[in-house]
Amino acid sequence: MKRGWALLITVAMAAAIIGILSYISGYFIFAPIPELVLNGEREVNVESHTTYTDPGLTATLGKKDLTEKVRVSGAVDTTKPGTYTLTYQLTLHEKTYSTSRTVTVVDKEAPVLELTGNGEMIVSLESLYQEPGYTANDRCDGDLTDKVVVERVVEGEQITLTYTVSDASGNSTSAQRRVTIRDIVAPVITLNGYAATYVPLGSSYSDPGYSAVDDADGDITGSVVRSGSVDDSTVGTYTINYTVTDKAGNTATATRVVKVFVESADSPDRVYLTFDDGPSSEVTGRVLDILAANNAKATFFIVNYGSTGRQLIARMINEGHTVAIHGYSHDYATIYANDEAFMNNVYSLRDKLLADFGYNATIIRFPGGSSNTVSASYSSGIMSRLAIRVEQEGFSYFDWNISSGDASGYTLSSSEIYHNVTGGLRRGRNNVVLMHDTNAKWTTADALQDIINYARGNGYSLLPITSGTYPVHHGIAN
Ligand code: ZN
Repeated sequence: MKRGWALLITVAMAAAIIGILSYISGYFIFAPIPELVLNGEREVNVESHTTYTDPGLTATLGKKDLTEKVRVSGAVDTTKPGTYTLTYQLTLHEKTYSTSRTVTVVDKEAPVLELTGNGEMIVSLESLYQEPGYTANDRCDGDLTDKVVVERVVEGEQITLTYTVSDASGNSTSAQRRVTIRDIVAPVITLNGYAATYVPLGSSYSDPGYSAVDDADGDITGSVVRSGSVDDSTVGTYTINYTVTDKAGNTATATRVVKVFVESADSPDRVYLTFDDGPSSEVTGRVLDILAANNAKATFFIVNYGSTGRQLIARMINEGHTVAIHGYSHDYATIYANDEAFMNNVYSLRDKLLADFGYNATIIRFPGGSSNTVSASYSSGIMSRLAIRVEQEGFSYFDWNISSGDASGYTLSSSEIYHNVTGGLRRGRNNVVLMHDTNAKWTTADALQDIINYARGNGYSLLPITSGTYPVHHGIAN
């Protein structure tokens, strides 16, 4: 009996020791493993450019919730298609437990294709179709414009353009443009010369010409029909109509108004175009050509000339312009040295003109104008004396009341010269316009036709200065 108790105690003690040992050793060796359970699927597909919210994971150890201790690494960028791995890790008693999820971002969105211009177009000829352009953009792949494929199908008078583009994920978009081949564009008539033309009575008018072009038919100048006529021997306003029709029946018209008018010194509104410092080989001939084409007369205040100038002066005289004296020399120090020097300078040129052409020039313009003060540094009061003396000796001197500005230090544009001159015109007076025809003054020649047109278009008579012209004088300042 005593042995039985001893055995029982021994067994109980052994069991207790084994239990304690196993508890202690098990803590390190046979510890329970935490359980990591993914919420949701292990493999997930999401569409690009959507918001991905990870459903997370639940971690437990027995009944203990350890979810908050789980750390997630990796991220999903839904703007870039591809496969992403999210790794969940739980570290417990220096041991790490992990699991993962794969998230695949899938691009199901087609690119956006935009056509520039209209989806419906009309062109006069198939060859005149010009692609207005297009753009293609994909949210994942960016600009795909270069990848657009254009298919062109022509059936009768219909062109169908199909534009197609695919992104890297195979999503594609297409668009269409329909182009009808039909000439609905009228031809264009271009009139040579001016649409408003002024013809002084006594000069002859001829049509300056025209051309007509159609986008489908090309040059159809030969089909232009002109109606109306000008009687250049009768004062009046004449209308000439030009009409042309293309093969498709589109018609264009243009109109020219031709005004035959009396140009005379009795006109209340008068313009005297004057050109100083010439003649020159580059500009004077062009000025004379334009004046001749318009049958307009002007006044040239010339300086000494050579053989080229001699021919130009012969033209001036033959074509009815006034040749006037600026001076044999234009050098201020020489000509304003004293009264006799100035008069000699006038007579030298006057005599040369008489000898060369039998032309008696009686109109003078003082270099620098009668108001110049530069002369004061050479001879005090000389302008006051010369103004009287030239008149006493049978000359008339003219200044100006409109400056074209073409004597400024830089070259004015022809439009500046045009505005300076036309802006200065006043009704009911002699408008004396200062211009220059030296070699540098090509923009003056360029402006001349428009100046003539403006003046005549506004009823001014263009006249040459004569001994009977009421003079324009500046105030004398020396
Ligand atoms: Zn001058």
